Amino acid sequence: MASQRKFVVGGNWKMNGNKSSIDGIISFLNGGQLDENTEVIVAPPAAYLDYVRSNVNASVAVAAQNCYKVASGAFTGEISASMIKDIGADWVILGHSERRHVFGETDELIGEKVKFALSQGLKVIACIGEKLEEREAGQTNDVVFRQTKAIADNIGAEDWSRVVIAYEPVWAIGTGKTATPDQAQAVHKDLRDWITQNVSADIAQNVRIQYGGSVNAKNCVELAAKPDIDGFLVGGASLKPDFVTIVNARKA
Ligand code: PEP
Repeated sequence: MASQRKFVVGGNWKMNGNKSSIDGIISFLNGGQLDENTEVIVAPPAAYLDYVRSNVNASVAVAAQNCYKVASGAFTGEISASMIKDIGADWVILGHSERRHVFGETDELIGEKVKFALSQGLKVIACIGEKLEEREAGQTNDVVFRQTKAIADNIGAEDWSRVVIAYEPVWAIGTGKTATPDQAQAVHKDLRDWITQNVSADIAQNVRIQYGGSVNAKNCVELAAKPDIDGFLVGGASLKPDFVTIVNARKA
């Protein structure tokens, strides 16, 4: 069934870059041969969303890395879903592990943000993933199912086509320590089974589940071959031309 789900690769630039380095990224994206069967999304820092949207090819989608749960108002430092749409971007990443574990975002807040972003017409990459101590305690599924439930409870049946789940084990993010293809596949399969049982079989078959955590040009092909891995969310390597290789992992 994996073949029916379009491969989707996101680049999360986090809090990195300036106009000069971003010009370099835009030039390898615009100049690279990106597999047309892969949906490509880049997530620049908020300050550069407009610049990137204006300069990267239209075939590359643009995402914000976060947004708040209401339309506007006295929320210093936040950005809104309508601002993201206003500059021509379509996507937002929500629930990234750095938002959860550096900024203390709860499952409940992430669920609220997912609900509001979808209601405003954005597409959402919703991130989940266990910490090392949770994996070592055998709690991986408990954690990712709990996080997924908090998200799924906020998605109407008609909105699932605008949601991508990113499974990102926290111990693999930015550490150079990738989950093995078998470890990642096992969690993706269990997640899809959970969605079958708790949402619907149809949605489970169609929802795309990305893997994230130290994906690079060397490990991407083997990971991409797994039947329940439908793409990647890439941090560090998305700042380098290696990102083009990762986008093309299914073609290799
Ligand atoms: C991420 O930020 O979502 C991520 C997976 O980072 P990295 O690829 O650097 O581990």
